[in-house]
Amino acid sequence: MDFTLTVEDEAFREEIRTFLKEEWDPKGFDAYSMTTRSFDFDSAEARDMADEFAQKLIKKGWWTMHWPTEHGGADAPLSKQFVYRQELAYADAPSGSPSGNITGALMLHGSDWMKNYFLGGMAKNQIHWAQGFSEPNAGTDLASLQTRAVEDGDDFVVTGQKIWSSASHFADWYHVLVRTDPEAPKHRGITYLAMRLRDEDGVYTPGVTLRPLYDMLGKRRWNEIFMDEVRVPKENLIGEVNRGWYAAMTTLNFERTGIDGPARHLGVLDRFLDVMRGIRFNGEPVLSDPIVRHKLADLRVMVETDRMLSYRVAWMESRGDVPQAEGAISGYHNQVTAKFHFWPTLGSIVREYAALLNGESRAPNNGMYGTNADLALALGFGGGGGILLGPNIIAQRGLGLPR
Ligand SMILES: Cc1cc2nc3c(=O)[nH]c(=O)nc-3n(C[C@H](O)[C@H](O)[C@H](O)COP(=O)(O)OP(=O)(O)OC[C@H]3O[C@@H](n4cnc5c(N)ncnc54)[C@H](O)[C@@H]3O)c2cc1C
Repeated sequence: MDFTLTVEDEAFREEIRTFLKEEWDPKGFDAYSMTTRSFDFDSAEARDMADEFAQKLIKKGWWTMHWPTEHGGADAPLSKQFVYRQELAYADAPSGSPSGNITGALMLHGSDWMKNYFLGGMAKNQIHWAQGFSEPNAGTDLASLQTRAVEDGDDFVVTGQKIWSSASHFADWYHVLVRTDPEAPKHRGITYLAMRLRDEDGVYTPGVTLRPLYDMLGKRRWNEIFMDEVRVPKENLIGEVNRGWYAAMTTLNFERTGIDGPARHLGVLDRFLDVMRGIRFNGEPVLSDPIVRHKLADLRVMVETDRMLSYRVAWMESRGDVPQAEGAISGYHNQVTAKFHFWPTLGSIVREYAALLNGESRAPNNGMYGTNADLALALGFGGGGGILLGPNIIAQRGLGLPR
């Protein structure tokens, strides 16, 4: 493996670091990635900050630099994308690119008007998507989804219920998987649609109803979305009828390297040490406690391992390989680190203070450790059940074990 970056990449790293110092200040918000994983993603102020930051990234030409030139991007080399993503995550900044998992599907399977309209709008951060995959009886086993769409003239007419649609109360558009052929084998009767949720004035499409879902910290993180005979024009079809499963599974290289997780952990750990240097328990500096020191050393080793695993994925991709098992190992390891080790360990070091959450005056680092230890509980089953899928991919594609 060769992890060495070019002189240009290292210079680019310095440029981003300087830019972040000047242009990004989290102001006490936990706005990392500004996706459903961040605690403050629903705060109007944090959202405004993230939008303002996005405009600066657009101006710099970084927001869509990973897109192919034919779609208005800069076809940036993988190493440059990697450095970019790494530095933003280290600084706990928003993710720095348009909504992830719809982009590749639009580029590869979208019609010309879709590419123009959606990719054009996303490149200016003017279109916000929500994802409508999960249903009450279709989560890990997503292909069991039941939401029905029937063709009627120039439209699909959609009826059914989705659940866990993250941040969908902020979204204009919904990329949604629906069943168009109930007789076909599960994966083959599914179609992928772009459904308008609400217009420019905020008026919801007839037949669409959102019902809020709150997390254990009281945040409206998701919605259930009910669709009652919602008409979706046929021109909003992504890919082909009954081939939606395959279109929806398209992702971009950029999103697979998985550097964000370890980079964020390293940034949090460095800042945690800065905070802890000034804190004493029972009159003694926290960092002089040998148990604390051991915990922190273990954590650092774990995070460095994650970092190396994600470097391996990026290195393979840069050579044109498809790192399936390696991607799964990297993703799985990082989730296990975050959920079972990283946040719980930081929480255990600040002890009772971990119970003080974001917004409470005596909460260290504005409650980041406690709130994230709680949020990390969702890791592993969110996003399609990584803790289950990861080992399956490793077993079948990596070790060649039978299904
Ligand atoms: C933070 C967060 C954000 C999300 N955002 C979105 C979103 O924007 N859009 C969207 O569509 N969905 C979203 N989801 C939903 C997510 O995709 C589902 O939670 C996920 O697919 C798991 O489905 P489920 O919750 O129905 O759990 P289930 O599938 O019911 O699983 C429950 C438990 O059983 C285990 N299990 C399931 N099947 C098996 C098996 N065969 N063998 C052994 N164990 C099994 C699982 O690992 C899990 O621990 C989000 C979820 C989270 C947590």
